[in-house]
Amino acid sequence: MKLRNTAQRKEILNILKNTKTHPTAEWIYEEVQKIRSDISLGTVYRNLKVLREQGKILELHDGTKARYDGTIEPHAHFICEKCGDITDLSISGSLPKWVSLENFRINSFLILLHGQCPECCS
Ligand SMILES: [Zn+2]
Ligand SMILES: [Zn+2]
Repeated sequence: MKLRNTAQRKEILNILKNTKTHPTAEWIYEEVQKIRSDISLGTVYRNLKVLREQGKILELHDGTKARYDGTIEPHAHFICEKCGDITDLSISGSLPKWVSLENFRINSFLILLHGQCPECCS
């Protein structure tokens, strides 16, 4: 049982590492099903939770649904309000000056910008 769980989790992680689309659990479920037809959506959710707790994936919210990300290097996100696309934005330098965080220690952060992607703008 334990071995099977590990294999399933690896496949889910693999799928997430190989996409830049920040998919929903349902999308991941459809992809894993192509490899393992016996997997349930509940199992996918459970594994996503474990992976997130292990710090191997990120979870973000698009306002309605949880979306998952296999890229854990620090980066920001842009979400298109029209088509729902989530784009990775690389960040560099230090935190903006308007963030005042004396006496706090930052372990992780989430930057989510909202607007319209280039495709929806044109
Ligand atoms: Zn768009
Ligand atoms: Zn991302």
